[in-house]
Amino acid sequence: MRDERPDMPDTAIEITGLTKTYRATAKSPAKEALRGVDLAIPRGSIFGLLGPNGAGKSTMINILAGLVVKTSGHVRIWGFDQDMNPRQSRAAIGVMPQELVLDPFFTPRGSLDVQAGLYGVPKSQRRTDEILALIGLEDKADAYARSLSGGMRRRLLLGKALVHMPQILVLDEPTAGVDIELRNMLWQNIRRLNEERGMTIILTTHYLEEAQEMCDEIAIINHGQVVIQDSTANLLGRIKGKTLVVTPSTAVSLPQMPEGISCVLRPTGALAFGYETSRFTADAVLDAIRAAGVGIKDVTSEEADLEDVFLELTSS
Ligand code: ADP
Ligand code: MG
Repeated sequence: MRDERPDMPDTAIEITGLTKTYRATAKSPAKEALRGVDLAIPRGSIFGLLGPNGAGKSTMINILAGLVVKTSGHVRIWGFDQDMNPRQSRAAIGVMPQELVLDPFFTPRGSLDVQAGLYGVPKSQRRTDEILALIGLEDKADAYARSLSGGMRRRLLLGKALVHMPQILVLDEPTAGVDIELRNMLWQNIRRLNEERGMTIILTTHYLEEAQEMCDEIAIINHGQVVIQDSTANLLGRIKGKTLVVTPSTAVSLPQMPEGISCVLRPTGALAFGYETSRFTADAVLDAIRAAGVGIKDVTSEEADLEDVFLELTSS
C-alpha cells in the first residue's frame, strides 16, 4: 500500500515564522525563545544549527520533536505540516535529545523494543539487532541501563531515535561532554547514515570545528533568530581576514600597531596579528611588526575559521 508521503521533498524541514514564548512563572518572567524563525533544511544534508547558549536551539529542536508546543508559525517535516498531518510528520523524524533520559530498569534491547512499539513499528519490521550493532551495544543488549556508562547511554539514545528509521535524524548537542573515542564513533555512524541511507541529519553543537568538518550547511541562531544560513564553504569564504602568529625573539609587551592590524598575546607567549587581506599584504604586516620593535623568531599564518564568522555574527 502506498501511503500519502510525498516521496522525495527537496526540503526535509521547512520552518516559517516560528515563534515560542515560554509563559511567565512565579520564578521567571515570560521568555521569547524564538522570535520569527524561517529555515529551510535541504534533503540529504548534514545541517548544523549553531548558536550561543540560550539562543533557542533546543527550543527549536524540541518543537520539531513534538516535545514543546510552538506559539505561532508553521513547521513542515518531510513535506507534512506538523499541525495538519501530525502522524506523518512525526514518523519522518527521530530526535536524540540533549538530556540523558532513560528508564534505568530497561535493557538496551528492551528500550529499543518499547520505543519501536511507541512508533508503531510491527515486530516483523523491527531492526533491533541492526541498531544495537550500529551503536556498538551488542554485548550490552541485555544489561540494565543503570549499569551503562554515560557514553553507552548516549549511544542508546541515538539507537532510540533510529527505531523507525526516520528520513530525518536530529541530534541536540550529541557530543557535548563525551570523550574523543565516542565522539569519533558517533560521527562515523552519523556520516554512514547520511551517505548510505541518504538520511538528512540536523545537529546542534558547541564545537565549531566539528560543525566546520561535518556540516554541508549551517544556520547560526542568536537571540531566537536566524542570523545567517549558508553553505559551510560560503560562510568560511565570508571571512576575509588572516592572522600572522609571531614568536618574538625576546619577551615583549603588546606592541602599538597601525590602525587595521589587531594584536593579541596568546597564552603561549606568541603574538597574533589579525588583518584584512584586502588592506594589507603579509609583508606589510611583518614590516609593521618589526617597526613596532618586535624581533621575529618564528612566524606562521592562520586562515580564518568558523569561529571568526560565529564571533562576528553573534557578538551583539
Ligand atoms: P539553547 O539550546 O540554544 O541553549 P534553549 O532553547 O534551551 O537554548 O533556550 C532558549 C531560551 O529559552 C533561554 O533563555 C532559556 O532560558 C529559555 N527556556 C528554555 N526552556 C525553557 C522553559 N521550559 N521554560 C522557560 N524558559 C525556557
Ligand atoms: Mg540546548
